[in-house]
Amino acid sequence: MPDGTAPLTPATADAAPSIREQRTEQPLYAGRIKVYPKKIGGTFRRLKWAVLTLCLGLYYVVPWLRWDRGPHAPNQAVLLDLPGHRGYFFDIEIWPQEIYFLAGLMILGALSLFLVSSLFGRLWCGYACPQTVWTDLFMWVERLIEGDRNARMKLDQLPWSLAKVARKVAKHFAWLVIAVATGGAWVMYYVDAPTATRAFFTGKASTELYFFVGLFTATTYILAGWAREQVCTYMCPWPRFQAAMFDEQTLTVTYRAWRGEKRGKHKTGDSWEGRGDCVDCRQCVMVCPTGIDIRDGQQMECIGCSLCIDACNGVMDKVGRPRGLIAFDTLIGASAPAAPVNWARRLLRPRVLVYAAMLLLVSAVVLTAFAMRTTVEVSVLRDRSPVFVTLSNGSIRNGYTFKILNKTREAHRYALDITGIGGAAINVVGADGVTPVGETVMLEAQPDAVATYRLYVAAPRPELAGESTPLHFHLTDLMTGSTAAYQSVFLGPKR
Ligand code: SF4
Ligand code: SF4
Repeated sequence: MPDGTAPLTPATADAAPSIREQRTEQPLYAGRIKVYPKKIGGTFRRLKWAVLTLCLGLYYVVPWLRWDRGPHAPNQAVLLDLPGHRGYFFDIEIWPQEIYFLAGLMILGALSLFLVSSLFGRLWCGYACPQTVWTDLFMWVERLIEGDRNARMKLDQLPWSLAKVARKVAKHFAWLVIAVATGGAWVMYYVDAPTATRAFFTGKASTELYFFVGLFTATTYILAGWAREQVCTYMCPWPRFQAAMFDEQTLTVTYRAWRGEKRGKHKTGDSWEGRGDCVDCRQCVMVCPTGIDIRDGQQMECIGCSLCIDACNGVMDKVGRPRGLIAFDTLIGASAPAAPVNWARRLLRPRVLVYAAMLLLVSAVVLTAFAMRTTVEVSVLRDRSPVFVTLSNGSIRNGYTFKILNKTREAHRYALDITGIGGAAINVVGADGVTPVGETVMLEAQPDAVATYRLYVAAPRPELAGESTPLHFHLTDLMTGSTAAYQSVFLGPKR
């Protein structure tokens, strides 16, 4: 095979053995057995198309959204401006000092995933994971060009001909176009999209831009076009540890063996007495994007896409049996005839409550921190060497580097008050005169910048509480009224 995978032979196509059945032994390294998923329609397939359209639509369109932030600011709605050390999300501007918001969002994402997994199993994997979404898109393109399952299997078995080469070239070309668009869109989140696109197509973009577009093009093409289910089965760590979030009340895609067994072929008019509803048609195996047989029980390879539910429901409709032989169900429901669902027990499980509580707590912390954001921040760094200086009049002097972070787009004036030591005096390097502690020092900061000042605070020795005396810095923005505070210390000799 051109891609080094082993296709099913046409003779075995109808039998549709699952991937596990095709592996007669379990070597340390097993070559990939190519999966040929069959086209299927149905409720879950429609849902998957809807999620796919939403995810891809957002991904490709968002970098092109504009947002007016006034002069001297980028007008891209969502932008991670690495050279400018700034993140933009519509009206929100995140400074490097606020990277904890990003950490908070990542924690929220992880907790949401835990909660959804404990309630609904692998919903993320089956519907919204980028690997699933792009693989689905690539499979759709493949089906358009090479046909459905049997046609693709037959094509792979045929000797090379002009027609076969034409189809393969067309498919890989289409994949590459999508991959370039995907890699390009990713880079657009870091640079101005229209400018970078113009530069890209006129050969004027930076080497880094071409490199990263190439890198993400290659990863998209390889992961969604070639590796596919291998990523979920062998590369992704999530299937390994998500089992820790599952219990017997977690909803997963399950085969109701109590109803399906004993399975067997069924002809129209045959009795259903003494047998199960599964007619062993293997449609569920043929549509599976990972090539497994859901009737073998819970398997790590199952991404929870629910396409086997659509396939089996179609079969049940045809043979006149109730739908739901394969369904979203709990492990308890799958192993025994339907007991009445106790929703309170299903939803209010300890692990669900713990994840929900953690989610609420972290959301509250992130929202509170966000609501308390100001347009000004200060940082104070006390000199370490020398720790203090004894002046000729006997007073003690400490040096500080005082930074004002002006997050606005205009120059602002600030009033600095330092309290904590009576009789002390402040000297701002470069400014005239000395300001007694308790009086206000006027400072400035340029728009969207950090202003750095050197401050000396001199204090009469008797006023010091000891070796270390608390010193409070309090800054007020004279234009907006925003405030920022910092508590430092003033060090002196031992008593
Ligand atoms: S699609 Fe349904 S009836 Fe057919 S083999 Fe699968 S479980 Fe059995
Ligand atoms: S077994 Fe069913 S739910 Fe699981 S991956 Fe295959 S088709 Fe999707």
